[in-house]
Amino acid sequence: MPNKHFCQGPHCHEQITQDRFLKSRGVIRGRYAYATLDQGPNQYGWQAPDSDKYFCSQSCKFTWLSQNMENIEHGRPIEFIRHRRESQGYHKVTEEHEGWQGRPYITNSIKRVDNRTELD
Ligand SMILES: [Zn+2]
Repeated sequence: MPNKHFCQGPHCHEQITQDRFLKSRGVIRGRYAYATLDQGPNQYGWQAPDSDKYFCSQSCKFTWLSQNMENIEHGRPIEFIRHRRESQGYHKVTEEHEGWQGRPYITNSIKRVDNRTELD
């Protein structure tokens, strides 16, 4: 296991992207955070902010903030994500389309098996 936290983004494990998709089990998985726990500065002296040790992206960071600031204000505990979250029921779909001047082309996409959500 990498020296990383799992991304704390509330919906990280529901975003349909190729790098989150595990084809063998048909699940979308949450990502690891962007930075390792002990990551130092890079060769140019740039240091990732500490918040990057908890989130994979700015988007996940801001989603977490929006969802949890009220909890922080009221002193309510917020669950820390310590296991890899998953969303089930996805599969990879390969489709052939007719393109420019009738030349076929292939697209790959990840879709929910029950077709409730279809995102390419
Ligand atoms: Zn994330």
